[in-house]
Amino acid sequence: MSSRGEFPEGIGSRSPLSFLRRSLGRLFFPQHCLSCERADTRVESWLCPECRPYLFLYSPDEVCPRCSLPYPHEGELCPACRGEAGTEGRYRVRFIAAAYEGTARTLVMAAKFGNILDAVNPFVENLLERIGERRYDTIVPIPSDHSLNGRLARCFRRRLGGEIVRAIRRRRTAPRQGTLSRIRRLENAERVLRLRSGRVSGMVLLVDDVTTTGATLDAAVRLLAREPAVVSTDIAVLAHTP
Ligand SMILES: [Zn+2]
Ligand SMILES: [Zn+2]
Repeated sequence: MSSRGEFPEGIGSRSPLSFLRRSLGRLFFPQHCLSCERADTRVESWLCPECRPYLFLYSPDEVCPRCSLPYPHEGELCPACRGEAGTEGRYRVRFIAAAYEGTARTLVMAAKFGNILDAVNPFVENLLERIGERRYDTIVPIPSDHSLNGRLARCFRRRLGGEIVRAIRRRRTAPRQGTLSRIRRLENAERVLRLRSGRVSGMVLLVDDVTTTGATLDAAVRLLAREPAVVSTDIAVLAHTP
């Protein structure tokens, strides 16, 4: 290696030594792209440059600002949110980073089942950007079998403040949501969850990985709304099944 000028463009202020280390690391241990599964020395955040453009995360101008469902009228509430009377027992704002399909689904699954938690970093950044200046007193992860929801809660706490409280529990005897039809899920969700009363207060952020019918999150919001100390509940979720 001779002069700094020989390094490719875009290295910016990284020192030549750290660049050298990175390049050598990549050369001997090329990373695998989670989407196309090719080993590639240019993989960043678990995607190669060819697959990266296919990770579609929602931007605020294409979704409803309250429920995060696709609605391409920047800043306007979707018809469903406009029609809702009052917010009693309902979430205030729900942030969703992506539709659970294609490359987004691959990354969420890698985080959830492959324990590659970094794979969803771009989703977390997307959510944090949209959450913006909002701050929370309590961050409540939806209980799950894997470590992703707990990790998400810690990411949000670091940037948004508040205290993580695992106030929502799943009853052991209840059937798993995934084994039920849609109607049964809605009925089941109420019975599945229970809230440890008196531990949650103020502005609450409820955190989950993927929402399907929304039944679990709706039930959790209703439970939280019965707590006198809870002011409002927002939801942050990585992806929803479209
Ligand atoms: Zn790829
Ligand atoms: Zn809406």
